[in-house]
Amino acid sequence: MTWEQRWHPLRREWVVVAAHRQNRPWNTEQLNRSERVLPEYVSDCYLCPRNLRVSGARNADYAGVFVFDNDHPCVGPEAPTQLVAPPGIYRSRPATGIARVVCYTPRHDLSLAELDVASIVALMEVWQEQYRELSARAEVRHVLVFENRGEAVGVSNPHPHCQIYATNFVFKGMEVELDAERAHLEETGRVLFQDILAAERADGRRWLVENAGAVAFLPYFARYAYDAIVCPKATHPSIAELSPGELRDLAAALHGLLVRFDNLWQMPFPYVLALHQAPTDGADYRHHHFHIQIHPPLRKPNLLKYLAGPEVGAGGFISDTAPEDKAAELRAVPAVHYRSGR
Ligand SMILES: [Zn+2]
Ligand SMILES: [Zn+2]
Repeated sequence: MTWEQRWHPLRREWVVVAAHRQNRPWNTEQLNRSERVLPEYVSDCYLCPRNLRVSGARNADYAGVFVFDNDHPCVGPEAPTQLVAPPGIYRSRPATGIARVVCYTPRHDLSLAELDVASIVALMEVWQEQYRELSARAEVRHVLVFENRGEAVGVSNPHPHCQIYATNFVFKGMEVELDAERAHLEETGRVLFQDILAAERADGRRWLVENAGAVAFLPYFARYAYDAIVCPKATHPSIAELSPGELRDLAAALHGLLVRFDNLWQMPFPYVLALHQAPTDGADYRHHHFHIQIHPPLRKPNLLKYLAGPEVGAGGFISDTAPEDKAAELRAVPAVHYRSGR
């Protein structure tokens, strides 16, 4: 039984690990476990090739990865710039930036976990191009690439895709992480993430996938039950700096992790995935080690980790599971996707 507090070095906060609570009585509704068989093409899907989108634009007859500007942008070049000044201490600023959508494949019925490694490499090359292009814009200070997968995290269209928010600000969670990394370098002369990798390697129990250039693991300080990190072994501030070999190894590590997630309960494993990259505001971020963080919201099949009193009410996190146990579960499942060969 694990019952203790663990320090989250990237968020600079304590996580309460109370693993004895995982089997407490649970009477509220569970998510529907439904795995629909999807067609390869859907005529009214706004992400499938050749289809008309709500903006009136038509998707290309694409064969690989397809990028377009989001028709419902949260930040955009058209956001109002003449704002009414709020009263007193309140402040506002324009919501300018660029929001894009990246379709992974023309196949409506696939998912990132079901793409082969070569297709994930092709996707990661697009992530590199997007980071380079968007970071060159003066108004862009940060490029957030993220994927929401599954209805559990609010996604209604299963067509495999991610989004890019190129914003005129750096998101708070990234700012905290970057500050922690900078402080660690100043105090110790070492890259924080390399110390995390060394500690994980020394322990070994949460280590899931490793190849020549990349690794995947559940960190000691996991907040969600299956919180995972996928990263190159070498320190690079963003994905754009990775060599072709490192990119291939990163794709293979991500693939290995996502296949195990899907195989765990033989269902598409919902998650929020985010690339943690250095801001693009011109400052020095050599202390930042680019990584992909994956936050699956389930702690059991069809059972969500609800964010409640401590999480929403106070900004802390109670974990009902120990990542050592969850990593052991993932290591025990096959490395070949359960739907392959169908
Ligand atoms: Zn589609
Ligand atoms: Zn991070």
